[in-house]
Amino acid sequence: MRALTVAPGIANSAGVEDLPDPPQSDGAVLVRTLALGVCGTDREIVSGLYGWAPPGHKRLVIGHESLGTVEEAPVNSGFKRGDLVVGIVRRPDPVPCPSCAAGEWDMCRNGRYTERGIKERNGYGSEFFRVEPEFLIKLDPSLGLNGVLIEPTSIVAKAWDHTERIGRRSRGWAPKTLLVTGAGPIGLLAAMIGAQRGLDVHVLDHNDRGPKRQIVRELGATFHLGELADTIIKPDIMMECTGAPGVVRDALGCTAAGGVVCLLGVSAPGRDFEIDVGGLNRTLVLDNDVVFGAVNANRQHYEDAVTALQRADQRWLDSLITRRVSIAQWTDALAQQKTDIKVIVDFA
Ligand code: BGC
Repeated sequence: MRALTVAPGIANSAGVEDLPDPPQSDGAVLVRTLALGVCGTDREIVSGLYGWAPPGHKRLVIGHESLGTVEEAPVNSGFKRGDLVVGIVRRPDPVPCPSCAAGEWDMCRNGRYTERGIKERNGYGSEFFRVEPEFLIKLDPSLGLNGVLIEPTSIVAKAWDHTERIGRRSRGWAPKTLLVTGAGPIGLLAAMIGAQRGLDVHVLDHNDRGPKRQIVRELGATFHLGELADTIIKPDIMMECTGAPGVVRDALGCTAAGGVVCLLGVSAPGRDFEIDVGGLNRTLVLDNDVVFGAVNANRQHYEDAVTALQRADQRWLDSLITRRVSIAQWTDALAQQKTDIKVIVDFA
């Protein structure tokens, strides 16, 4: 089978390889890949800055935003041939830590978790993959190709879950305004869930080329172009989805009193900014503000993602998938074009 592989730690080592069928040890369910989403993490891995091959190997099968149909599944596995499915990315650490033991591998405490296509486990970027039934999510066939958005949606479903749990520390918490920075897939999906919650949603981006403004408008939300520091909105919830150090700095303390800032973008270290720590601390303390980070997703968040995507306007979701590339040309998906939102590798 053809597989998209890379040598982690070595820049531009990405290619297409012919590999044997996926090993039984990856799981009892065999899945035929339909599509694979590409994201910033994949770009980081391909540029040599992130990612780990399976122990004893030099190359990693990349890909963690999967979509496929079941080819073969044991009886009583809960799956049958033809089911539309998505694989969960993270596996609990082997200790396991208290979080992993509780099924919250997204909250792993010792960092010894593994991730398909990212950390020490081959990913979903091959014509077939195997997966354990307990790490597989069944989708309604009506989601079709939009099912490839489940994994990124699971990330924002976790962000929403934790934001709302933090918000409930105050009995009177009734958020009205959401501000999202970054109108990429994560930002737009976070905004979509905000709109489903009935919030007044604002999305800020520095790029007005392509369909972003229109896509935000179709959510019933407001698009803002420019700098966060120039926006006068004082949101109750802020979701920072760019990971850009300057935007992160401006996000700190930017909410209304009792606000929650959720940081979702992973940034590269090494960018220094001057921050008035005293002023920031004063705002956070006197306003009871919270700033927190969120990564990955557990099974519940994937289920939440299914619910959210099923409630969404499917044509709106279609518009997030702006480019499709073939397996042979998959590295083209990594070169970001101005009009890109979600780029997918088409295996079908
Ligand atoms: C993935 C997460 C993963 C994170 C860190 C993200 O791109 O969506 O599942 O935990 O990268 O490796």
